[in-house]
Amino acid sequence: MTKKLIIISIFCGILFLSSTFLFKIESFRVDFLDVGQGDAILLNLPQGTRILVDGGPDNLLLNRLGEVLPWWEHKIDYVVISHYHADHILGLLELLNKYEVGEVLTTSHQPDDFLYHILLDKLKAKNIPIVFVQTGQSFDFEKNVAALVVSAENNNEDYNNNSLVLKFNYLQTSLLLTGDLTTEIEDKLVKSDLNLQADLLKVAHHGSRYASSPEFLKKVQPKFCVISVGKDNDFQHPHPEALARLSASACQIYLTQDFGTLRWQSEGFVWNLLD
Ligand SMILES: [Zn+2]
Repeated sequence: MTKKLIIISIFCGILFLSSTFLFKIESFRVDFLDVGQGDAILLNLPQGTRILVDGGPDNLLLNRLGEVLPWWEHKIDYVVISHYHADHILGLLELLNKYEVGEVLTTSHQPDDFLYHILLDKLKAKNIPIVFVQTGQSFDFEKNVAALVVSAENNNEDYNNNSLVLKFNYLQTSLLLTGDLTTEIEDKLVKSDLNLQADLLKVAHHGSRYASSPEFLKKVQPKFCVISVGKDNDFQHPHPEALARLSASACQIYLTQDFGTLRWQSEGFVWNLLD
């Protein structure tokens, strides 16, 4: 190879690398981890902020995280706890041993029960700050990613109704995470003047019969509905009536029990399901 050719090759190489770096397309990725009967949702924001919403019922969480994160990554910036039921928080106990967690966001519901205290003690032992969020509060996690606290009740007897409900906006796309909300709180939200419209919806309470009312779905207008649910569970989730209501709302339904972990990506315009 002549000297001239070598110089041209080096120049092209530098040009290629810098264009890859400069024109890297940013995206917001949402992974609904297949943790069986429970919820665990990993959000990877465009600038690298990592948020885990709930941790599923057991240590399967760690396997699933290992499948979607590079092996060297053991940092979660924010852990969001929707509510204090085992199928949402038990997996977090081992996560706190293995991952560096920046902060916990949750409602001000502080139940006097065993599981809550175990988790609280662990967070205190690890010096992880807990932020108690309020309905109507909004968080700018990154320049183009904001989250609105749609509901964060703390005094319902049914823990499901104390679920932290968050709506994320990323440019023209949105995501609504509903925890295990029931129609009781959905009705309140329908009557509120909050903008619930979201093209990607985490269906409430694993597709329970007592959630996803037609009025609520009309207000959300989801294009894609994800149900996090385990095969052959004891709760009749998802219930055929809830599935019928979701179908009637014209959203495409995806179940983790059929697809495994569901990985969605938005570059700001539309949600795409990754292979
Ligand atoms: Zn649940």
